[in-house]
Amino acid sequence: MTCKYCGSSQTICIYDYSEVRFQCINGHIWHEQYKEDGGAFDKPEEITYSFEDTLFPCEKDIYAQIMDVFQKQKRHGFSGEVLNDIRGVLNRSGLDEETAEKLYKKIVHYNPNKCIEGGKE
Ligand SMILES: [Zn+2]
Repeated sequence: MTCKYCGSSQTICIYDYSEVRFQCINGHIWHEQYKEDGGAFDKPEEITYSFEDTLFPCEKDIYAQIMDVFQKQKRHGFSGEVLNDIRGVLNRSGLDEETAEKLYKKIVHYNPNKCIEGGKE
């Protein structure tokens, strides 16, 4: 799904109880209806959320790398360097600074109820 406002292919899609919510990486938010309401989307049988659902396609690879770092730290009982290591992965990721900062905040301050609401800060 590309953004209906700016055409970006960096979009996320959250299946909510009453509608499908979309957000693009530039902060545009829109809603689509399920078939039962006349829209084009099949409603999932179960509504579940995961952190990965809130990641834009360009963030998913980086997130996997961060989880690797996290698992390694976990095995070593966390040295307190986790946040630095996350920063390190982001610095090497090739994401632009703003996108990297947003991803960092998302991971550190993940709140499932706020993952898509609010949009542009
Ligand atoms: Zn957009």
